[in-house]
Amino acid sequence: MPSPSPLPGITPAPTDTAAAPVLVAVQSVTMVYKVGRIAVRALDNVSFTVRPGEFVSIIGQSGSGKSTLLHILGGLLKPTSGSVILDGQDLAAVSDQERTAIRRQKIGIVFQRFNLFPTLSAEGNLRLAEQIRGVNGQDPTHRRELLRLLNLEQRLHHKPLELSGGEQQRVAVARALINRPKLLLADEPTGNLDSENSRIVLDMLRQLNRELHQTVIIITHNPEAAAIGTRIISMRDGKIIADQPNNPR
Ligand code: ADP
Ligand code: MG
Repeated sequence: MPSPSPLPGITPAPTDTAAAPVLVAVQSVTMVYKVGRIAVRALDNVSFTVRPGEFVSIIGQSGSGKSTLLHILGGLLKPTSGSVILDGQDLAAVSDQERTAIRRQKIGIVFQRFNLFPTLSAEGNLRLAEQIRGVNGQDPTHRRELLRLLNLEQRLHHKPLELSGGEQQRVAVARALINRPKLLLADEPTGNLDSENSRIVLDMLRQLNRELHQTVIIITHNPEAAAIGTRIISMRDGKIIADQPNNPR
């Protein structure tokens, strides 16, 4: 059935975009680092939004501002100007303390260097994250599902040095997701992995997105890694130069 024609003189609201919920809205974000008397403009008026369930790859050469953007999205860094609305709260406007609280509750972050505690087993690393992150983390069904998806059930009692790089990164992904954050961020998650382990970790991120509808933003300089996203944002010199849907392999 055709939709009713709008009243003359009235422009109908653009239903698709207006109705879609937004998880993250980055609005005119600029970041200038001051190094002595020199100012480095790492991000220059960057704006985009991310809807729940998207898998966004942000790609760009070294120095294009990717890590700066990820740190701002993760509430680790306050932009010089602009706003970052996550789930209705502006990360750029709240106190450092509030930003930390929002990060623990709503954001999981995975780094290139895994950053696991070396003296704790995989299980111990997950328990610690649950304790730091509080109540949401105590869901045994979610925990089992995560460990199954990441194929870690047989590795729980191993310490990081007894695990391969790929396994360590999977523990780091499980740790980031233990609290069911609305947003998973990953900064070059395969940067320290060989190609086989990169493939495994990327496939698992994709599966977490598909099966748990986890919203994911990864940054990478590697086009092959970026290709697992459902959308690819390209950056150069602190600006977005392209933003396109992608058909992941
Ligand atoms: P990418 O992750 O794409 O390599 P970055 O966000 O790390 O890019 O860096 C963007 C620009 O900002 C680069 O020119 C870099 O040298 C500069 N930069 C990054 N972090 C800092 C910092 N803490 N102090 C000064 N300049 C920085
Ligand atoms: Mg970087």
